[in-house]
Amino acid sequence: MNEIGKLLTTLPVPVPPMFEAALGYDGDARYVAFYWQPTGDEVMYDDGHASGDGDWWAWIEFENHRAIAPHLWLPCPRCEGRGTTNTLENDPCDACDGSGLLHLNLGSSDFEADHWLILDRQERKFYVAPIVTARRFLQEQWPPPPELTPEEEQAFFEAIQRAVEELNQTWQPPSSEELEARLTASMQLCREMVAWLDGQVEEGDTHSPSSLRREK
Ligand SMILES: [Zn+2]
Repeated sequence: MNEIGKLLTTLPVPVPPMFEAALGYDGDARYVAFYWQPTGDEVMYDDGHASGDGDWWAWIEFENHRAIAPHLWLPCPRCEGRGTTNTLENDPCDACDGSGLLHLNLGSSDFEADHWLILDRQERKFYVAPIVTARRFLQEQWPPPPELTPEEEQAFFEAIQRAVEELNQTWQPPSSEELEARLTASMQLCREMVAWLDGQVEEGDTHSPSSLRREK
């Protein structure tokens, strides 16, 4: 866990048990990242092996939920969350205007993300990391590919080719009934996620982003 702590920042928000399912991720990686991509205007998942677009409505509900939205801040890197870079005169920090916090940019219709939200599916925790760090972290969760002899490599590519040909012959596009059933199930998961998040917000909950400020 300490190794992770050096690379990733914990995001102290509740993790819905159905989060990745509601977002449309059905892989089996322990760690999977989510972010919004302006190109195509959709939510993306990436586990270091597989990536694709997810169910955008679930992301919108999640990111804007009152159990989540107030916590999407990070300590300002320029002043390390202190609000000033000048301890003598106490001038406000240029980067964060003295607040010590910067809004966490997980991507939007107008801006590329500069951080990814990373879910630890085993511990049920959220982390955030700058994209380059997140990518490397996700790739490193997989064992390195084995060293193959040229013969093994050849056999491997032939096996892939056969599998692709077979898939091409047998694959059928989903019927409209199947698509509709999938959509209905996804909407249902999204509703369950929102209901679960609603249950996380206690009456008079006054968590402020300043709870994220670094202790100095
Ligand atoms: Zn600052």
